[in-house]
Amino acid sequence: MADTIRSVRGMNDILPDVTPYWQSVETTVNEVLSSYGYQEIRFPIVEKTALFCRSIGEVTDIVEKEMYSFDDRNGESLTLRPEGTAGCVRAAMQNGLLNQTQRLWYQGPMFRYERPQKGRYRQFQQIGVEAYGFKGPDIDAEMILMTARLWKQLGLTGLKLQINSLGSTEARLAYREKLINYFESHRSQLDEDSQRRLHSNPLRILDSKSPKMQRLNDGAPKLLDHLDKESEQEFRALCEALDAVGLSYEINPRLVRGLDYYGKTVFEWVTEHLGSQGTVCAGGRYDGLVSQLGGKAATAIGFAIGLDRLISLLEAMDALPKVETIDAYLVAVGDNAARHALLLAEHLRDQVPDLKLITHCGGGSFKSQFKHADRSGATWSLILGDDEINKKVIGVKAMATGEQETVSWDMLANYLQS
Ligand code: ATP
Ligand code: MG
Repeated sequence: MADTIRSVRGMNDILPDVTPYWQSVETTVNEVLSSYGYQEIRFPIVEKTALFCRSIGEVTDIVEKEMYSFDDRNGESLTLRPEGTAGCVRAAMQNGLLNQTQRLWYQGPMFRYERPQKGRYRQFQQIGVEAYGFKGPDIDAEMILMTARLWKQLGLTGLKLQINSLGSTEARLAYREKLINYFESHRSQLDEDSQRRLHSNPLRILDSKSPKMQRLNDGAPKLLDHLDKESEQEFRALCEALDAVGLSYEINPRLVRGLDYYGKTVFEWVTEHLGSQGTVCAGGRYDGLVSQLGGKAATAIGFAIGLDRLISLLEAMDALPKVETIDAYLVAVGDNAARHALLLAEHLRDQVPDLKLITHCGGGSFKSQFKHADRSGATWSLILGDDEINKKVIGVKAMATGEQETVSWDMLANYLQS
């Protein structure tokens, strides 16, 4: 027998028994976002590699070692998007959307060559939200409140909000020197990644997931203590806005985010219920990115939700949404009944628009068709044989109790609706 071809490591199939949960969560997210006036934008999964290098930053995990890049047949370097912000900015710039304020969202697969483990995949799903042209911090607060509403709407508890400010570019540069000095004086304790980043991207060291590095990071000078006036005021205003609605948060001075384009507000929603892959939603302000990508300077802020982790968390918290089940399974034995079954089913669908009805296809005995009806989880099975056709009736069996009634075709739609 020939070898079977399996999926790419870290790229998962999402099977029909779980897709209803995904659909339900996606619907809720879409509803909440549009209730705040956010509009969907769709842009390609593949972009020029340079877009990601220039936006995410050369010395980041993503650009250094996680991108799926390839040369197309023309020799142009393309990359499967590792995140959505860069493509969204590119699309907004290219299509003139940045002439006015925008509230946008998008959804889809992202690709990163990471070590696959629970909550960390090579293809994963994000819902991303971006707002352009707002100076903040009112929009910063709105975005955070919107995510909080989302968790509420999903019936999700167990998420904690962490916020921080990364300050202005100048403040960050000055702080960078202090940070380098600190790490220089503890050079022997730096792990390999951190040594390499010491001069190219020292802030990223603060984002390290290694416990040893985290202890060292605890003693590092804090950017929050070295903010510029404007960032400090804006951060205070953001905190006040969150206080005013009673949304609790933790100020985490080590929260720096893994992408270079962030400045000022950054935030993450974190859970303890998913092991070390605990960040479900993350974002922040990136006012410098548009001009960095060659556009006219525009303020920007956004966040992304990792849907794979969100669904895992809902499962862990026993909060998966209720999903709709099949209402009826139509059993029809014999050629004549099978023909009538298709007609009757179409008729029922016309009359009961949200009816979920499976018509048995492929023939077989009553017994085998009933097995299918049972497995479908339908509330009723509808039974059609030659006898029923002659009398223009149908057998309706409640699967839970086994009780059976005979209902005329005229009354069937009413019966199912009640
Ligand atoms: P992490 O620190 O966990 O690596 P990140 O900072 O790289 O996350 P972002 O680029 O901010 O993540 O992406 C936003 C969200 O997307 C994350 O908070 C997470 O929920 C999700 N996410 C990121 N990478 C993956 C992945 N490889 N597999 C599944 N979800 C992911
Ligand atoms: Mg990462």
